[in-house]
Amino acid sequence: MKENPKCPKCGSENTLPIGYGYPGPGMVEAYRKGELELGGCCISEDSPSWCCKDCKNSWGKFSIRSD
Ligand SMILES: [Zn+2]
Repeated sequence: MKENPKCPKCGSENTLPIGYGYPGPGMVEAYRKGELELGGCCISEDSPSWCCKDCKNSWGKFSIRSD
């Protein structure tokens, strides 16, 4: 499993990937386990791909798959 990147703001390793779209059972399960943050259904080019649980910072660029 890939390691989460550190927060660029506070340096915390307590970071989560942000999942977008309508959350399916897998996403809800990951959210309950604290492995994923739900970003909501709306995604734009500016949507971040990571968030920090410690300082609530969010960063990164979420890549929208266009296939
Ligand atoms: Zn942080």
